[in-house]
Amino acid sequence: MSAAPEVVADGAVVLFHYTLTVDGDVVDTSDGGPPLAILAGQDNIVPGLEKALMGRPVGDEFEVSVGAADGYGEVEGPGAQPLPRDAFPDDAEIAEGMAFMAGSEEEGYFTLWVTKVEGDQVFVDKNHPLAGKTLDFKVKITSMREPSPEEVAHGHVHGEGGHHH
Ligand code: ZN
Repeated sequence: MSAAPEVVADGAVVLFHYTLTVDGDVVDTSDGGPPLAILAGQDNIVPGLEKALMGRPVGDEFEVSVGAADGYGEVEGPGAQPLPRDAFPDDAEIAEGMAFMAGSEEEGYFTLWVTKVEGDQVFVDKNHPLAGKTLDFKVKITSMREPSPEEVAHGHVHGEGGHHH
């Protein structure tokens, strides 16, 4: 068994607490729960935050402001478009902020975000809800370890703070 990595680098499992603030509002935080676990270098998180983590030791606390281009992207396209409610499965619960996969094998798959539900119309947008936004992260790295061979194969972390499957 190899020693735990000393600083964040490609291929390390990194556990960290974070608070994400956008336009002065906290939109996401790991406070009160387990830290988030990522496999560094595998695009598990937005590129700007991953870049900011690289080279830092366990225990490091920092704040970083990530622009849209290194976050959830710039806002593109015509904006939210209406779809009939019956384009979705009958038993699907649909609410603002939910994400659906759309597309086909030929044209490729993409994510559609529900921006609002109005009567029998569901408005969807290809842009992530935080596209175009500057992301202000507050981060504390809590621990690091080597990934298991299975985690390397999957490109993400298993167990607490990671994927359960
Ligand atoms: Zn997996």
